[in-house]
Amino acid sequence: MRTDKFKNLQQVKTYYNFLLNKTWKIDNNLICLTDKDYFFTWDNAKRRFGQITYSKKRITISKPIILLNLKNGEELSKVFLHEIAHCIQNELYHVKSHNKQWKKILLTIGGDGIVQYDSNSIITPKGKYTLTCPNTTCKHKIERYKFPKKVSSCGKCDTKFNKNKIFVITKNY
Ligand SMILES: [Zn+2]
Ligand SMILES: [Zn+2]
Repeated sequence: MRTDKFKNLQQVKTYYNFLLNKTWKIDNNLICLTDKDYFFTWDNAKRRFGQITYSKKRITISKPIILLNLKNGEELSKVFLHEIAHCIQNELYHVKSHNKQWKKILLTIGGDGIVQYDSNSIITPKGKYTLTCPNTTCKHKIERYKFPKKVSSCGKCDTKFNKNKIFVITKNY
């Protein structure tokens, strides 16, 4: 199955289910995660990519992040294999760790053994609000997913609160 590019969310889901349905051979054990009741579902997280709830055998993946990275299929499949390796390790050995055993599983199923995905190669959604420093020579910007509760000023211009450097808030979507 090609994973260099995805056309839409449905293709991503199909690919993920393909990984879950596949029977892997790990240390002489044959394991298929669907047989062990693991399943895939979407969520709307904006700051983290995916999450495994082991007690429910549920893997949730961020729809907004996937939508921004459909063309980035290779990076996406690396992250998927990372999670699949966690589920296999949990199921076979009841261990949840980025240890040597996990790394070996990941390499066996075709991953590259990297713990953290490259945050530069995965695009994350822009914050709902942008705080911009009013100082035109500074223009420091901060992204926020929620409207800030407190009035704040630019820390780059002044380490203490400065009423002349109060951030200007703009709504992005
Ligand atoms: Zn991990
Ligand atoms: Zn500033």
